[in-house]
Amino acid sequence: MSDITRREQTNELALQFGNAWNYAPSREGTEQVSLKPRYELFIDGAWTAPKSNRYFATINPATEETLAEVAEANEEDVARAVTGARAAYDNVWRKLSGKERAKYIYRIARALQEKAREFAIVETLDGGKPIKESRDIDVPLAAAHFFYHAGWADKLHYAFQGREARPLGVAGQIIPWNFPLLMAAWKIAPALACGNTVVLKPAETTPLTALMLAQIFQEIELPPGVVNIVTGAGATGAALAAHPGIDKVAFTGSTAVGKRIQQALAGSKKRLTLELGGKAANVVFADAPIDQAVEGIVNGIFFNQGHVCCAGSRLLVEESVHDIVVRKLQDRMRTLRVGDPLDKNTDVGAINSKMQLGKIHEMVAAGEEEGATRWSATYDLPSKGFFFPPTIFTGAAQSCRIAREEIFGPVLTVLTFRTPDEAIEKANNTMYGLSAGVWTDKGSKSFYMAQRLEAGVVWANTFNKFDATSPFGGFKESGLGREGGRQGLAAYSEVVG
Ligand code: ADP
Repeated sequence: MSDITRREQTNELALQFGNAWNYAPSREGTEQVSLKPRYELFIDGAWTAPKSNRYFATINPATEETLAEVAEANEEDVARAVTGARAAYDNVWRKLSGKERAKYIYRIARALQEKAREFAIVETLDGGKPIKESRDIDVPLAAAHFFYHAGWADKLHYAFQGREARPLGVAGQIIPWNFPLLMAAWKIAPALACGNTVVLKPAETTPLTALMLAQIFQEIELPPGVVNIVTGAGATGAALAAHPGIDKVAFTGSTAVGKRIQQALAGSKKRLTLELGGKAANVVFADAPIDQAVEGIVNGIFFNQGHVCCAGSRLLVEESVHDIVVRKLQDRMRTLRVGDPLDKNTDVGAINSKMQLGKIHEMVAAGEEEGATRWSATYDLPSKGFFFPPTIFTGAAQSCRIAREEIFGPVLTVLTFRTPDEAIEKANNTMYGLSAGVWTDKGSKSFYMAQRLEAGVVWANTFNKFDATSPFGGFKESGLGREGGRQGLAAYSEVVG
């Protein structure tokens, strides 16, 4: 029996016994989460009202309900935070030995583990991602990042082959909304390990877990001013990047804003690392284990609603297996559970904001206008909140916007190739270069591809795997510098000697 016939029979059965696919809801409780109605700025180890006197609401994108009010920092507030970070750098943090810094970072990691459940729930409430992801990926990886960097704090001379690593000073860090806690960990942990102090600005739609992290800093008695958290939108981020008192800017977000920051910093003493957009190719060869590859494709683009800079948003599939891969992908997509992010069964949760949902709709409309064929399974989407069904486009040309531009949503564009070199040419035909995937039975082919794909990360027979020990970052317009691993320490150190 061919694969396709077998699938058809399975689908028949699924239709007959439709309920076999339906899981009873298993909702994570929110009782143990106690959010404050209003959050102030975290400056110099204390909560302080913004000089701006302004607050904004952060909402749950799955219900559109307000979760809390958050302070909006203006230039004066940013300046206060930078002054606090500078004083902590000069008077306390740079004077501590690596061993002492490590103790604080270990404490942060352990406290995060102790409160893992609370953090996972708030991450899901504020950002819309499925609880199984925030619980199994975001929070454990964030804790791992602190553990890993605590280990480096007293061993930096080994990281740089015996040369001395000096801290840079005050780091201004601006992060996006797709992995709010994890991005905070990616930024804060190496900065502290290398002896820098921090002013962090979380994204305006997802500030809550960073503010909970500030509560942890108080509990573990991190010296005041070592990490300051200023909430606000783009203007707050711009004020932070432009402040003359910072020595380093670390930014993760859109390529457009990254370029603006790079322009603003031109000619200044400030160091810069940028982690920007992506349009990753997931390359599937005819000899790949197709079912495994289909899981990897699904994970690559529908994981976290496609809100992943390194999402596998372009599927490059060898022409001879195009039909079977698309067919199996559609079968798998029919079984995805889309909806309430707090339900432990949910695979695809809410789109992070109304604005982002609008952008996805716009890109999908562009794909249809340009003649690509749109397909989506039928999902019972909640009536409230921001949801978008997992969608694929076939028959798209390389020149289509959906094949070139980042969509940052659960939308996959399928393209074909005939030879490895054609796959490489198509995969590299983008201004981005953050990640790529290769699916093949042949190890030699994986290496051949990995050496030629212009991407900071190339996954072979897997996708979206992260580890604190592994450097992450982009080629081309996907960014500058690396985060994580030994290489990530260089971004926060002046290496001398
Ligand atoms: P995304 O498309 O992922 O939302 P953005 O680049 O708009 O990416 O946002 C990422 C982070 O950058 C957020 O914290 C946002 O508030 C901040 N930001 C937006 N505009 C600016 C700016 N002009 N300067 C500095 N930070 C900014």
